[in-house]
Amino acid sequence: MIKQKKTGQIIVISSPSGGGKGSVIAGLLKNDNKTRWLSVSATSRKPRPGEVEGVNYYYLTEEEFKKKIDEDYFLEYTNYADNYYGTPKEYIKEKLNKGIDVILEIEIEGAANIKKLIPEALFIFIMPPSLKELVRRLKNRGTETNEKIIERFHTAYKEINEVTKYNYVVVNDVLENAIDKVEAIIKAEKCRVDRIEEVFLDTKEEEIHELLINKDLKNEVVADKIK
Ligand code: 5GP
Repeated sequence: MIKQKKTGQIIVISSPSGGGKGSVIAGLLKNDNKTRWLSVSATSRKPRPGEVEGVNYYYLTEEEFKKKIDEDYFLEYTNYADNYYGTPKEYIKEKLNKGIDVILEIEIEGAANIKKLIPEALFIFIMPPSLKELVRRLKNRGTETNEKIIERFHTAYKEINEVTKYNYVVVNDVLENAIDKVEAIIKAEKCRVDRIEEVFLDTKEEEIHELLINKDLKNEVVADKIK
């Protein structure tokens, strides 16, 4: 009856630092890492303890990053908290063509740039339950100086006001619930009518249609066809 697009979808997930998008995304990938893929960004930020090259980010110097900008290497990039961050173009088309969803874990400016380039992408904002909780999470992470925490908190406050630019907002109070909600959003998006490529009747359906126009349901030939 209908032929739906088999291509993957770009799923942009943003939240302020400490909003918990990393944990939500880890949950999504734990549920399914075959039909979804998390793009690894490049950054000029120094690795935090425990971060791994090629897993969390590709770590570049500022000069290397700028060179890549000139080479048109990025789908989008931005400067956030004095560091560069960018989404490499590499692999994205290939994954989408294979029917794999591509998750971009990026901040709001990057998301706005993706919206201009790919308006049909799915934009999800993960919201911390409260500002108090946000500060607590930033402090508990213990990876930033006080000054940096305050700077990130200010940025977070501004970012929360941009939530209406997204398609969906999910409050991350209980992680499992937040993951379930994002799963539901992704599932629902697959059923959007703009993913229909074609509506058609196959030969059998055409025949039934013809017969039903002319005859009633009790007619033997019709009854036989719809058995
Ligand atoms: P963090 O330093 O905490 O790892 O990341 C800071 C912010 O940069 C986060 O909001 C993160 O989602 C965002 N970010 C990470 N990679 C990219 C990217 O490739 N592009 C953009 N625009 N933002 C990114």
